[in-house]
Amino acid sequence: MSSKPVSSSTIDPSAPIGVTILGATGSIGINTLDVLSRHPNRFRVIALTANTQVDRLYEQCVQFQPEYAVMVFADAAQQLDVKLKQAGLMIEVLTGEDGLELVASLAQVDYVMAAIVGAAGLRSTLAAARGGKRVLLANKEALVMSGKLFMDEVQRNNAMLLPIDSEHNAIFQCMPPNYDNGLESIGVRRILLTASGGPFRTTPKQALQKVTPAQACAHPNWDMGKKISVDSATMMNKGLEIIEACWLFNTNADNIQVVLHPQSVIHSMVEYTDGSVLAQLGNPDMRTPIAHALGWPSRIASGVKSLDLFEIAKLSFEPPDLDRFPGLRLAMQVARIGGTSSTVLNAANEVAVQAFLDRKISFLAIPNIIEHALSEISVEPVDNLEKIFQVDDITRKICQEYIDRRQSSSNTLH
Ligand code: NAD
Ligand code: MG
Repeated sequence: MSSKPVSSSTIDPSAPIGVTILGATGSIGINTLDVLSRHPNRFRVIALTANTQVDRLYEQCVQFQPEYAVMVFADAAQQLDVKLKQAGLMIEVLTGEDGLELVASLAQVDYVMAAIVGAAGLRSTLAAARGGKRVLLANKEALVMSGKLFMDEVQRNNAMLLPIDSEHNAIFQCMPPNYDNGLESIGVRRILLTASGGPFRTTPKQALQKVTPAQACAHPNWDMGKKISVDSATMMNKGLEIIEACWLFNTNADNIQVVLHPQSVIHSMVEYTDGSVLAQLGNPDMRTPIAHALGWPSRIASGVKSLDLFEIAKLSFEPPDLDRFPGLRLAMQVARIGGTSSTVLNAANEVAVQAFLDRKISFLAIPNIIEHALSEISVEPVDNLEKIFQVDDITRKICQEYIDRRQSSSNTLH
């Protein structure tokens, strides 16, 4: 991550900061708009994007009056266009991947919130990096699948990457500024990456076989989209976050310790060579990291209420259980292997999570599918984006075939 404030030279301090939100209708998108609505003079919404949710994007357009709205599918874009015209709003409606890339790189856009879920967000997030924008990165999958290429684009184009993931945002807040040359040189011993443990933290392994998508999506502390909720339940989310932290903070998995902390009050910690441990605390509300990244280096209001330590009373910590949560073990291995292995991990996880949500496979089959993909596909160095998309594509096919094959021999994949 580049630690110098980049776009500051190009931003006119008297004009509102132009913001594009990729994935405006999702959990992060909605929280971002909530924070922006508290600062109407500081920020101006330039573009909002969504996949299929016409009505929600329409309501957001009415409230924030952006210049552009993007719907990925053409028929949804058509419906939105009709509704906006009927309401007398002059908003240009674009469609497809080209539309997403365009609104991520417009000249009047200073900040891009990258909040599309999964690999689908990679191209538009990269477009923001190429455009030299301040990239507020929620879409961790983009970084996991393309790691070095993504970081190279950020550096080459003098973009700035600020983490939205609550743990990485916490680490950023506890870290000295100049970590580009590695942690050792700045006196950092390790990163303590906290994890809530998700809804099945104490569920016995046998009972995990039968858990439903609704149970997996009922996170005890955070209200999030379905994919990341399942990732939290399998703890693959923490695995993706280890890889994300390695890229963001120029370190390796050996310097990262996962710490289960069920209250989700400490969002992560940085340990220094003198034994000091700095932590960032707050209520589990994504508006805090969002406001931090929007305001940085200033602090701006987020609407998050004060932390009531007397109400919380106790903070507890435990080591993660890699036997009940093998996805975390796989991600730790991948973080050490590098190359295209994290592209495979990410794509296999996306396919497996969707199959679980569609009730085609059991919860415990998710890591089995990922392990199968990792054993089938050989690791290569990451040297160009086309290779990343090829590996992503092959992985999805292999996983889909595996699911179909196993499904035809039994009702649910175990
Ligand atoms: P979500 O499912 O609530 O929203 C996803 C957004 O992406 C929606 O606006 C949707 O329209 C859009 N989208 C979905 N598929 C798309 C496609 N194929 N093309 C274009 N747009 C598409 O997800 P979320 O919980 O807001 O998570 C978004 C990202 O932020 C994920 O990468 C997640 O890991 C990360 N994140 C989320 C949280 C959280 O609290 N929700 C916390 C940390 C990180
Ligand atoms: Mg997180």
